[in-house]
Amino acid sequence: MTHRIESPASGAAVGDPGTRTYELRTFGCQMNVHDSERLSGLLEDAGYVRAPAGAAADVVVLNTCAVRENADNKLYGNLGHLAPAKARRPGMQIAVGGCLAQKDKGEIVRRAPWVDVVFGTHNIGSLPALLERSRVLGEAQVEIKDYLETFPSTLPSRRESPAAAWVAVSVGCNNTCTFCIVPALRGREKDRRPGDILAEVEALVAEGVLEVTLLGQNVNAYGVEFGDRFAFGKLLRSCGEIEGLERVRFTSPHPRDFTDDVIAAMAQTPNVMHQLHMPLQSGSDRVLKAMRRSYRQARYLDIVAKVRQAMPDAAITTDIIVGFPGETEEDFEETLNVVREARFSAAFTFQYSKRPGTPAATLPDQVPKRVVQARYERLVELVEELAWAENRALVGRQVEVLVSEGEGRKDAATERMSGRARDNRLVHFSGGRPGGAALAGVRPGDLVTVEVTYAAPHHLVADGPLLDVRRTRAGDLWAARQAGPTQTADVSGTPSGVLLGMPAVRR
Ligand code: SF4
Repeated sequence: MTHRIESPASGAAVGDPGTRTYELRTFGCQMNVHDSERLSGLLEDAGYVRAPAGAAADVVVLNTCAVRENADNKLYGNLGHLAPAKARRPGMQIAVGGCLAQKDKGEIVRRAPWVDVVFGTHNIGSLPALLERSRVLGEAQVEIKDYLETFPSTLPSRRESPAAAWVAVSVGCNNTCTFCIVPALRGREKDRRPGDILAEVEALVAEGVLEVTLLGQNVNAYGVEFGDRFAFGKLLRSCGEIEGLERVRFTSPHPRDFTDDVIAAMAQTPNVMHQLHMPLQSGSDRVLKAMRRSYRQARYLDIVAKVRQAMPDAAITTDIIVGFPGETEEDFEETLNVVREARFSAAFTFQYSKRPGTPAATLPDQVPKRVVQARYERLVELVEELAWAENRALVGRQVEVLVSEGEGRKDAATERMSGRARDNRLVHFSGGRPGGAALAGVRPGDLVTVEVTYAAPHHLVADGPLLDVRRTRAGDLWAARQAGPTQTADVSGTPSGVLLGMPAVRR
């Protein structure tokens, strides 16, 4: 995912002498999106303002991802394009952070000597100081730390959505999945104290936030650092006590750490959504073993069955990798079997590609590309067929939609607005009157209730009247941003399809 911030966001006037502008480009997963909100907050705290759309910025920050094989090409391609802009613009600075910076360290300035700052995943708080130091000394600053300096959530933040926020509960991961670079780059799991997390959620709700997504590379292992394996379920229940918090989600849990108390907490806490994104990766026990994923097919399906029993309306989504080294046709069939049995409402499917630095990159029996492609197409076809059937079952049902911005690309043409249902399904609604007349008073951040009239594999449509509209403080904030002297960015913070450790998304 590329998240390109395009408009100024603070009250400072762009173009004031002495005001430096910035542009932030984010690649990769939700943890990077979360970190980028902190990077924006840090820069704005230090006096920078966002560059207006289309204008060249004084500082360009690339928050990179190292998960995909071609991530390097993407970074150096971006840096190549920035070199002439920098040559034309004295004083311009380029900073590279994120997982690729953590991995390549000083190599980045060797390959692209026009880069001014390289910072890692453990020290994002250093960015303003490094930019300043580089400017004063006139030389590149490379600072990579092996251990987390400051929990990113404690840094200033500039959220993209008034209604929805990410809250990191942990960073890093203690697992060693052989296809994943995250443990090498983000380090071992570090947990925040429950009181700090809840204080942040309360502060967000006081600002008008209605929905939080608890974030961790292995979110339900939360508590491992302070020795409480039921800490995550307790955290969900505590979120249930926060008045004004309408929706709680979390991503991404690991099947190994999925305890029954989390299912009970989900089912019994009214503001925890009946939605579960639980990576499967493969349905074959043999492949799961080779991936060093410590659960097996039966365990995964057992969790799904328990979730469905406790919450029959739950929407379950997953990640699947096709063509892991050594995957046979029988292994792949096992994956198809799990997909059929689990009835996912969506799956993010990935063709395995070697990720340098991961153990799987050197495994023998890499599956030929044409075989991977053919399996991938079969998998996508099955996923779509099942997701569509699940969606069709919702036609005629009433759903509550948290209206968002930027999620319905065709909204202007179709005279609809869009948002997420409680189960995180994407819903496009028209209000039922021609020309979108019924939508006049509805703002992103408001809550509407509509009846589903049509289902597609990846979204629902509600073309009847609005059954209920709840104007919210998040909607007021959105309206205030529109009316203010500066415009907000184009990226919604609503959790959608970008996954931890998994950069590009193909449904
Ligand atoms: S895939 Fe997830 S659980 Fe496995 S090592 Fe990566 S971050 Fe950890």
